[in-house]
Amino acid sequence: MDKKLIYLDNAATTKLSDEAFEAMLPYLKEDYANPSAIYSFAEKSHSTIDEARATIAKIIGAKTEEIYFTGGGSESDNWALKATAEAYSQKGKHIITSKIEHHAILHTAQWLEKQGYEVTYLDVDPDGLVDLEQLKAAIRPDTILISIMAANNEIGTVEPLKEIGQIAHEHGVLFHTDAVQAFSHIPINVDEMNIDMLSASGHKIHGPKGIGIMYIRKGVRIRSFIHGGAQERSRRAGTHNVPGIVGMAKAAEISAHNMEKNGLAETELRDYLIDRVLREIPHCRLNGHRTHRLPNNANFCFRFIEGESLLILLDQNGICGSSGSACTSGSLDPSHVLLAIGLPHEIAHGSLRLTLSEDTTREEIDFVVDKLKEIIDRLRGMSPLYEDFVKSGKEA
Ligand SMILES: *Cc1c(COP(=O)(O)O)cnc(C)c1O
Repeated sequence: MDKKLIYLDNAATTKLSDEAFEAMLPYLKEDYANPSAIYSFAEKSHSTIDEARATIAKIIGAKTEEIYFTGGGSESDNWALKATAEAYSQKGKHIITSKIEHHAILHTAQWLEKQGYEVTYLDVDPDGLVDLEQLKAAIRPDTILISIMAANNEIGTVEPLKEIGQIAHEHGVLFHTDAVQAFSHIPINVDEMNIDMLSASGHKIHGPKGIGIMYIRKGVRIRSFIHGGAQERSRRAGTHNVPGIVGMAKAAEISAHNMEKNGLAETELRDYLIDRVLREIPHCRLNGHRTHRLPNNANFCFRFIEGESLLILLDQNGICGSSGSACTSGSLDPSHVLLAIGLPHEIAHGSLRLTLSEDTTREEIDFVVDKLKEIIDRLRGMSPLYEDFVKSGKEA
């Protein structure tokens, strides 16, 4: 590629950091021993897993033995829902989640409905915040689990975890949070927030793909999800992905260490981007909460624009963004998140998500906004709908 790449799709995945890459290398080559083996050659792989577990536990205020390594965020989400549903089916078969969860939660919940479970999907307000009163009202004697994401992957809204955890705790219901977008980006403490289970993923925090964690509070009776060997306290079988574990822990350590600094810098750049777009491009809106949002997330709707066409023209300028989430692009359905915050179909179609990283620069943002203005002008110039709109005189 001769053009410089401007990568603003960090909610979809992130670049592996140099430190995480370096930390992984020995375990891809010379230290290849199976960490479950008895001989001393396995000692290093074994002890590095313990260290990684401790590093990750510390970031969310958990105990080391409460962290379980999985194959990624989707696996952790599946595990949390399916295995809790099974283990607590004696108590009841009702689960509460929200309409704006990632598909790893939503599709699992839908599958559980086919198995005879009942699921309540909570509404969110126009900013994407779950309705706490509706949550309280939804809890029943047979409710076994509340699963609400920490921060939304499309619109960046950060949910009131502490309040949700409080409500769950008061009613004796387990609380799981999909923290894939939030882990090591914003502060999370499992005790202060009464979180019983938490999912996180390596590749969203500059770690490798195919590795994730699940935090499971001591005492939660969750079943094994992958059956086999005795790894992960017999709760998640399979030979440890040692390089992945080491890479994720290193990435998490760096990300958590720089959380405040990066958060401030990204928030400033994000707000600069948001302000410029809202000020300089007519007929657009910001999706998600103005302030209770991830430091790196901006999500806009542009009227009279197809998200797909916008992405293609941005791509021609070396800019990577997304419309909806990576999982829904390629389908013509508008994002379930944008519909849940109350946007009509035709507006939800013209969305653009730009997600920054700590490497994003102001020059890049300026370049992107300038291109965006040009592209949107051009697309609207070709749009019969826009022409009708202008002719109708509503413009003024
Ligand atoms: C990316 C993502 C997932 C899935 O994680 P993988 O590690 O890619 O399986 C789940 N939930 C949210 C909120 C995400 O952003």
